[in-house]
Amino acid sequence: MLLPTPMRSSPPQARATSRRRALRLPVEVLVLIVGLFWLVSANRPFLQAALKGRDASDPTAWSFGLALAVGVLMVHVLLLSLLANRWTVKPLLGTLIVVAAVASFYMQQYGVYLDPSMLRNVVRTDVREAGELIGWSLLVHLLWQAALPLLLLWRVEVVRWRWPRATAVRVATLVGALAVLVGTALAVFQPLASLMRNHKELRYLVTPANVLWSLASVAGADAKAQAAPRRVIGEDAAPGPGWAGRTRPRLVVLVVGETARAANWGLSGYARQTTPQLAALPVINFPSVTACGTNTETSLPCMFAPVGRRDYDEGRIRGSQSLLHVLARAGVGVTWRDNQSGCKGVCEGLPSQSVAEIAPHGLCSDGRCLDEGLLHGLPEMLRQLSGTQFLVLHQLGNHGPSYFRRYPPRFARFTPTCDSDDLRQCSKEQIVNAYDNALLYTDELLARLIASLQAQADRVDSAVVYVSDHGESLGESNLFLHGLPYAIAPDVQKQVPMVMWFSPGFTRDPGLDLACLRQRAAEPAAHDHLFHTLLGLFDVRTALYEPDWDLTHACRAVPATTTKAPG
Ligand SMILES: [Zn+2]
Repeated sequence: MLLPTPMRSSPPQARATSRRRALRLPVEVLVLIVGLFWLVSANRPFLQAALKGRDASDPTAWSFGLALAVGVLMVHVLLLSLLANRWTVKPLLGTLIVVAAVASFYMQQYGVYLDPSMLRNVVRTDVREAGELIGWSLLVHLLWQAALPLLLLWRVEVVRWRWPRATAVRVATLVGALAVLVGTALAVFQPLASLMRNHKELRYLVTPANVLWSLASVAGADAKAQAAPRRVIGEDAAPGPGWAGRTRPRLVVLVVGETARAANWGLSGYARQTTPQLAALPVINFPSVTACGTNTETSLPCMFAPVGRRDYDEGRIRGSQSLLHVLARAGVGVTWRDNQSGCKGVCEGLPSQSVAEIAPHGLCSDGRCLDEGLLHGLPEMLRQLSGTQFLVLHQLGNHGPSYFRRYPPRFARFTPTCDSDDLRQCSKEQIVNAYDNALLYTDELLARLIASLQAQADRVDSAVVYVSDHGESLGESNLFLHGLPYAIAPDVQKQVPMVMWFSPGFTRDPGLDLACLRQRAAEPAAHDHLFHTLLGLFDVRTALYEPDWDLTHACRAVPATTTKAPG
């Protein structure tokens, strides 16, 4: 695709031809031109967000805007001057032109910020998920933002200088760009400082520097995490005194929902009944639950950590074992069953299954399965159940943008639906209809799960906890999907539904007062409660347990304590 650098040894005739069709530019000029192109093509979201609220008739707004534009340009000139040389400049720029074009498409279309957390999400997304995000409008965007510049880049011949001159020019460029950057920053220091203090996240809109920075940050964190084994937590975990007298098998099923937002949850007062089956069951609904993150990569590990959002430390969470390891150590049989992109390290080394591998008949196509597949073989499993078991079901849920692919046709009850992978092709009403239909299907999944457990309730004591990993934007404030930096994410991305159900035998054992729990449910809760609530429900004793974070603690006849069980 890219023209090789002409060598001095090429025959004169060939060189002349190549000269005629090529534009000769030094590396530094090429970098400057591409930087200017990115400034106008990919950095509009940054400039718009940074200048938001300023009056166009105010001259200082213009000078501030100009300073920001110069700053963005210089950042890219500096970065590229450090990385590019005569041989690498064209492949490097070519790659980054494509990266910037793709990034700017999603930033402009869905309002996403490419911070490390988002980048981690992108990098870990499986091919099937990514496929749904690629549509015609992306191809059109790529045509003029990537294909056209690549064509021009191909026509450029990089000027070759002797090393003393090349070095001098490069050093002068670096020093010059740095001087301009610092000078500009000083000239608008006051507004710039206040912007960066109040809207730190805006730096993740500077494209493609945001991608390079976030990628380096994720790679660095991953390398660090790989260098050290996961920190063992809850080494003292042991079964509580309640375990001794148990004769019946005990099972807790945690359904980890995907992208379900509280705002559209029927049980929590949404104008539409998106949870008709759950509404007819004796479940306990938690209408005010705050998620730990705004994307799966952040939320999932956080939901299974002893300390999540209240003292957030991504490195600590990713570098440590999870609730599953603590429970397993105490003797709970743990199984993770996945219908999405995996457990994100939460179930490392523990038994796990994938619905796509089980491939239940009639539920899968193109490697994607409907969530019903999570319940495959459940009745037989219940019949053979023994001991104390924890089953985690990780849903595909309301994973966007293709909400219409998340449910079978019989759940298309709210119509018309958005039947395109490209949300911009649909009206707000169509998008919400498809989204709500996907919630109806989760309602069906949970009702069927509860029915299976009820059918075995005379033999197995069971409980269901359902909670979504994060919410979703459905076009409010022109935002779509999820993954906005936590500090600025709207509530629809952070408020998630949570529901619990208990078989009569399950509540009898630790003396769980459901009326009390129903009262507690009306108050705010968070993902941070999950770890301790599940320790409480299993009656697993460990010094990690914090009763204040156990939603059921005050509602048990014999509250669990942090003391280790004897023996
Ligand atoms: Zn998610």
